[in-house]
Amino acid sequence: MQQIIPTRHLFGPGPCNPYAEATAALGLPLLGHLDPDFIARMDRTCEGLRTLWGTKNTRTLPLSATGSAGMEAAFVNTINPGDVAVIAVNGLFGERMCEVASRVGAEVVRVDHEYGTPVDAERVAAAHPNPKVIAAVHAETSTGVVSDIAALGAIKGDALLIVDAVTSIGGMPIEADAWGIDVGYAGTQKCLGVAPGMAPFTISDRAFERRVQKPQSWYLDLGLLGGYATTGSSGGQRTYHHTAPVAMVASLEAGIERVLAEGIEAVTARHQNAGAALQKGLQEMGLELFAAEGHRLPQLTTVKVPEGVDSAAVRSYLLKNYGVEIGGGVGQYAATVWRIGLMGPNANMDSVALILASLKDAIANS
Ligand SMILES: *Cc1c(COP(=O)(O)O)cnc(C)c1O
Repeated sequence: MQQIIPTRHLFGPGPCNPYAEATAALGLPLLGHLDPDFIARMDRTCEGLRTLWGTKNTRTLPLSATGSAGMEAAFVNTINPGDVAVIAVNGLFGERMCEVASRVGAEVVRVDHEYGTPVDAERVAAAHPNPKVIAAVHAETSTGVVSDIAALGAIKGDALLIVDAVTSIGGMPIEADAWGIDVGYAGTQKCLGVAPGMAPFTISDRAFERRVQKPQSWYLDLGLLGGYATTGSSGGQRTYHHTAPVAMVASLEAGIERVLAEGIEAVTARHQNAGAALQKGLQEMGLELFAAEGHRLPQLTTVKVPEGVDSAAVRSYLLKNYGVEIGGGVGQYAATVWRIGLMGPNANMDSVALILASLKDAIANS
């Protein structure tokens, strides 16, 4: 029997509802992964990603896997066993970085921060005299906090700076070159407004020269991937490495085009305005925000579950009665924090009104 698939308002920590242009592009005629038209599409996609990353890096490409694979690629290509990795931890994704780095043999030096607070560059600088890499999350989706990446670039010294921009790309400006990011990875399903499945990635020449020569991952070996996606590093000759997810690249290209047509400034303002209106509305309802004031992400709001309210019951009520999905908290905050995303096309006042009205109902009646 045919299933009827409900439409949802995806107001959780991602995926968000995709831009219509990104969804439409999934239906384009499929091309072979070495077809000249596809190669041209891949080139345009990489060029668009350079604009979004704020970089001139030749090696800027979408990896064929989700954001976590971007994280994996960052560490597997930079860490030889025994190398020191100073990792700022202020949420789940910083924790995940420690796990990934330790599996490739890094000597991990954690710099723990209270959840809900931003990364402190001075503490990171003081953690070790000469690490091989310093790593941090730009927009911590688990806590709703933005950190100052330029401040880390200023203290990195000889270290390579690895930055997780999964939730920032397409929602707030990123200046990889100006901030001193050596390796950056992102995702498609957060503010870029594309379905999950790829990881926009960039690596500086400086980091590429110091890369691991034979990383333990064949699939994510940037030495091999260069010839697959970027003409600049292979003298124009494309070589087969793996079959590119052709349909996803088309969708990503359309999503990037959509974002750049609106303009990074306008897209940023739209996310900021929607996030500010939501945060104001939630506080007017008597709810308390979780992330430290002054460091709150507009695209991902963390709010404390009021005393006596069942977090999971509210979320089920929202889904059942409004088709609204919001996220629970992570780790020790699983039942005490909600995470509400206004990402990509959802960053608008209609979404804000729907969230505030439905949440009020759900808290009163779930
Ligand atoms: C979502 C997310 C990831 C992981 O991305 P996946 O696409 O789920 O693999 C990593 N870092 C941050 C900050 C995220 O929000």
